[in-house]
Amino acid sequence: MNQKRNEASLKLFQRAQELIPGGVNSPVRAFKAVGGDPIFIKSAQGAHLYDEDGNQYLDLINSWGPMILGHACEMVQEAVKAVLPHSFSYGAPTRREVEIAELIISMVPSIEKVRMVNSGTEATMSAIRVARGFTGRDKFIKFEGCYHGHGDSFLISAGSGAITLGVPDSPGVTKGVAQDTITVPYNNLEAVKLAVAAAPGEIAAIIIEPVAGNMGLVVPEPGFLQGLRDICTKENIILIFDEVMTGFRLAKGGAQERFGVIPDMTTLGKIIGGGFPVGAYGGRKDIMNAVAPVGPVYQAGTLSGNPVAMAAGLATLNYLNEHEEIYGYLDNIGDKLVYGMRENMAQLGMDFTINHIGSMFSIFFTRQPVKDFESAKKSNLGLFGKYFNNMLQHGIYLAPSQFESLFLSTALTDTLANDYLEANLESLRALKAFL
Ligand SMILES: *Cc1c(COP(=O)(O)O)cnc(C)c1O
Repeated sequence: MNQKRNEASLKLFQRAQELIPGGVNSPVRAFKAVGGDPIFIKSAQGAHLYDEDGNQYLDLINSWGPMILGHACEMVQEAVKAVLPHSFSYGAPTRREVEIAELIISMVPSIEKVRMVNSGTEATMSAIRVARGFTGRDKFIKFEGCYHGHGDSFLISAGSGAITLGVPDSPGVTKGVAQDTITVPYNNLEAVKLAVAAAPGEIAAIIIEPVAGNMGLVVPEPGFLQGLRDICTKENIILIFDEVMTGFRLAKGGAQERFGVIPDMTTLGKIIGGGFPVGAYGGRKDIMNAVAPVGPVYQAGTLSGNPVAMAAGLATLNYLNEHEEIYGYLDNIGDKLVYGMRENMAQLGMDFTINHIGSMFSIFFTRQPVKDFESAKKSNLGLFGKYFNNMLQHGIYLAPSQFESLFLSTALTDTLANDYLEANLESLRALKAFL
């Protein structure tokens, strides 16, 4: 319990709330799900964040994934600095766009051609449009609890059964849009088969997080991804892996490399920009040739392929490509944390569920296995909020929601992992009073 009070953060938050909806530029940052007020970050280095009051935190979010090499990585800084004297945007093609396309295609198994955009949201919206344009079909299937950015057609809840039409999940999304999105439970191949059978010849795409990180971490059960692959091949449906989170993280070729299942299209974001706003979508050449100006499906962007963002992305991807050993390192440090947390729980007579793969994990405050959104929702959110705030007091910055994954970076050393486990033990111990 060594943190100073958050007076500067609080003052900024009060000002921010007058000026910005909820005081934040993306909702989960507001700490609403855990209670308390958000912390304003001033700086970050390596594995640590520093707030406006001078507190230090071990960062387990890493900007929701992008900072896989740790904060303020020297090599990425140099790449960005090299661009700055030559101006920051041209709206015309540049050498680095060719180089990053070449690199992405060499790293990600499914991608034969790629288009750069400015966010993960743009990548998924565009991929769905291309899939529809290419197939001439309107509907697509997504999975409950998967997040694909804030595009209208993704903000849809399941209807009352696997074969019913979706319903808008946010005011402002129309029923018209919702009727073309079919939502089924994660890890449930039977539900997918039913949904496909109920709309023969109407489904353009199945989009999925091949490892789900937006309902907390949920891994695909053995055979699930291959099952989707088989259905899509049989029905001429385009299989889209949304690897905005998992791309360049679970392996240099993402979850598709790790699981050996190759989709038709892939969406990327987060790590691909090295901390700058970048996304990309790509896939089979015949599909990507449907995109303007070579094909009829329109998609564009004033700042797409921005030279500063490309430099940061290129430096990051080049490093990952040339240092594949970092994935072994991240797997090991992830294993260490998860085994350590399980030991801590055993010591305290607790048995909460931890889902884990590589450098991503979630602790769910439930004893039941978590394999889809229904089971994730069984978590005790009150306990999570207490655990979160306790960890924060111990200088550990976790994602401020039960329904998020945590992300590790190469800056997390063995010593820092031990600090984390010590804080974890103390924070779990503090929960005993509430069990
Ligand atoms: C973060 C995320 C997105 C959205 O990316 P933004 O850059 O926030 O628009 C889409 N899909 C997945 C799987 C994500 O994790």
